[in-house]
Amino acid sequence: MARYTDAKCKLCRREGMKLFLKGERCFSASCAIERRPYAPGEHGRRRGRKPSDYKLQLREKQKVRSIYGVLEAQFRLYFAEANRRQGATGENLFNLLEKRLDSVVYRMGFAPSRASARQLIRHKHVLVEGAVCDIPSRQVKVGHTVAIRAKSQNIPQIVNSIKDTAKRDRLPFVEADVKKLEGRLLSEPQLSDLPIPIQENLIVELYSK
Ligand code: SF4
Repeated sequence: MARYTDAKCKLCRREGMKLFLKGERCFSASCAIERRPYAPGEHGRRRGRKPSDYKLQLREKQKVRSIYGVLEAQFRLYFAEANRRQGATGENLFNLLEKRLDSVVYRMGFAPSRASARQLIRHKHVLVEGAVCDIPSRQVKVGHTVAIRAKSQNIPQIVNSIKDTAKRDRLPFVEADVKKLEGRLLSEPQLSDLPIPIQENLIVELYSK
């Protein structure tokens, strides 16, 4: 499966904001945005001209792709599905992205980042409705339980993530029991629930050209 392998902090610096892609490090003074708050590369510090509409739309889309760790082709499929469904396309898009299993595991606090959640899922440490699921993109349904397998509960990645849950934003659409390492998707995720400001209309405009 293709995935982004370059430095993750570059993505945050490109967007000029914390995207929380590296777990514990994102809350420390080592965060690259704290140390080098300008875009990566030779011209990163240069003051640019007023960005075009296209640039704003493209950057917003890239930001969202980086947050969820989704490559372009897959992101287009999510957009097509969001557009096909009833309701606002932007809301539908975030609903689909937030209900990915890797995102749900991360939101429950069982992994320090979505990349880490993806690894746990691929290595068969995660159960959905009591059965092992190794597909990070699986859509979790409202009411479904997600848990860490009993024999995997001492993995340092998980233990450390649980210790740090207090630093994370609690979102209303998931509940998690950090002692049992089990949680449930309570309701449909809404765009207004998300802690990072996102202008979904720019993404819809970009793909509607
Ligand atoms: Fe982004 Fe985290 Fe890197 Fe900071 S440490 S730049 S928030 S990925």
